[in-house]
Amino acid sequence: MQDTLFIVCPHCGAANRVPQDRLNEKPNCGRCKAALFDGHPVELDGAAFEAQATRSDVPVVVDFWAPWCGPCRVMAPAFAQAAKSLEPRYRFAKVNTEEQPQLASRFGIRSIPTLAVFRKGREIARQAGAMDHATLVRWIQTHA
Ligand SMILES: [Zn+2]
Repeated sequence: MQDTLFIVCPHCGAANRVPQDRLNEKPNCGRCKAALFDGHPVELDGAAFEAQATRSDVPVVVDFWAPWCGPCRVMAPAFAQAAKSLEPRYRFAKVNTEEQPQLASRFGIRSIPTLAVFRKGREIARQAGAMDHATLVRWIQTHA
């Protein structure tokens, strides 16, 4: 990994350069001053997805979900818990497939929840179906 990482602000979308050794010191966004990582998954629309998925130097773990989906609701706490334990090595994000149907169709999401990991604009892993916290963490660390 390089010494300086691009971290995309979950609030304003600015790409911040953060020295690798400062990643754990709760860095703030240079533009909007908000925390770059706050231990919570960030909800993405199309533009925010583009910024996170293509510009972030840390892998972005995306939960494609929908409000009416029971297994999605079951997995949500595990996903939030994973964000708390694995940030800032990964960015955790959610895409509501009802509000962002263009993202769901672009990535051919056929069942939800579907988890996908993106790095520098490339999808590097995908798994359909709900996972518990331990399985989720293991899956992420195995694939990204
Ligand atoms: Zn910002």
